[in-house]
Amino acid sequence: MSEPPKPRVLVIMDVDGTMIKNGDALRVPFYQAFEEVTGANIRGVKVNFAGNTDRAIIRQFIEVSGVNGDYEDLLARFADRFCELVDGSYDSHPSPRLLPGVRDLLEALRQHPEAALVLGTGNIRRSCEIKLRRFELLDYFPHGGGFGGDHEVRADAIRAAMEVGREAYGWDGEAWVIGDTPNDAIAAHDAGARTLLVATGMIRKENLEYADAEHVLDDLTDTARVMEILGLA
Ligand SMILES: [Mg+2]
Repeated sequence: MSEPPKPRVLVIMDVDGTMIKNGDALRVPFYQAFEEVTGANIRGVKVNFAGNTDRAIIRQFIEVSGVNGDYEDLLARFADRFCELVDGSYDSHPSPRLLPGVRDLLEALRQHPEAALVLGTGNIRRSCEIKLRRFELLDYFPHGGGFGGDHEVRADAIRAAMEVGREAYGWDGEAWVIGDTPNDAIAAHDAGARTLLVATGMIRKENLEYADAEHVLDDLTDTARVMEILGLA
C-alpha cells in the first residue's frame, strides 16, 4: 500500500478580521477581566489590538497602567477570567459575524488533498475556540495551530503553526498566512511564509497595499481565486 500524499501547501488562518468580525463582543469581558485581576481600569487606554498577540496586548496594558506583579501570573489569571466571561457572553452577543466566503474556502481547503489547514492567531487558544465554535468552524482545525496566548511575538505563533503542520499533517512545502493586517505579513515573512491579506478587518485595502504581502483581496468570497493564489487551483 502506498502512503497518502503529504500536503505541500500549509494554509495558516488568522481569526479576527479574517474569518470572524467580533464587533464589540470582547470589549466588556476584556476590560472587566483586566480590572478584576489587576485592580486597574484601562478603559480609555490606547493600545494597538489589530494584528497583535494577546500576550503583547496584556503586557502593554500592564506597563501603561503601572500594575505591579508577576507578568506570567497576571497573564494566566487574566486569561482564565477573560475566557470565562467570553464563554458566558459570546454566543448570545449580537455583534459577532462570520465573514463572507470563509466557510466555502475552509471547505475547499479541507477537501483538497494537497492542502493542510491550521490556525495562526494572536488569540488565546480558549477564546479562539469559543469564537470558532459559535460559527461551527472549530472542526476545520482539529490540530489547532499557533496562538498568541502562548507566543508574544506573532512570528513565533506562525512558526508554531508550521510545526503543527509538519507534526500533525506531514506537511512539507510552502506556507501561506491569510490575515488582515500588515503585522500578519511581517510575521509570515519572518517565519518563512507567504501572505494573502484581506480588507475585511480594521485596515482598508489601500493601506494594506503598503504591506509587504504577496496578494491583497477585498475579501474571501471568490474561493476559486483564493485557491489559485495559494497554488491549489
Ligand atoms: Mg486579524
